[in-house]
Amino acid sequence: MDPPGSGVKTVYLALGSNLGDREKNLQQAIQALEVVRQSSIYETAPMLLEDQPWFLNQVVEIKTSLFPRQLLHHTQDIERVLGRKRTIVNGPRSIDIDILLYGQTIMSSDELTIPHPGMAQRRFVLEPLAELASTLRHPVLKRTIAQLLAGTKEQNVRPYNRPGL
Ligand code: AMP
Repeated sequence: MDPPGSGVKTVYLALGSNLGDREKNLQQAIQALEVVRQSSIYETAPMLLEDQPWFLNQVVEIKTSLFPRQLLHHTQDIERVLGRKRTIVNGPRSIDIDILLYGQTIMSSDELTIPHPGMAQRRFVLEPLAELASTLRHPVLKRTIAQLLAGTKEQNVRPYNRPGL
């Protein structure tokens, strides 16, 4: 729980990469974001557009005093700097950063929906998030991350073993 009135929120972000040096892309995003804690890395088959490389996925925790829209613009700047090119919808990307949870905030606008609308169905988000915050309750669904994970279907998600280790 964040201290009341502190203005500092605990935020969980999902990182994904399936283009170029995927591990390096995750690392660079983590450096730029000043991450407090990070999950291990998972490898995931692409969901929507299947004819593309597998993703590496990871969830990170940050503490921020930015407001949600400011944070979105910050993460979008990082995506741009790390070379994401928005050419194909749902296609390959060097880095994708989604805001999953922003404290217990619930909000929805054209630009930003929090909690992230896809998170409750996605094993590649819930598995790494459960490493960091399994007892945290989804503010809309009122279920813990562990409960949401138990309720999702099997998906092609596996722990990523770094090559050479
Ligand atoms: P994507 O291609 O999956 O990165 O989606 C990008 C768009 O989703 C951005 O233009 C955002 O405005 C919008 N969006 C809505 N809610 C969120 C969220 N919670 N985190 C990140 N992007 C979001």
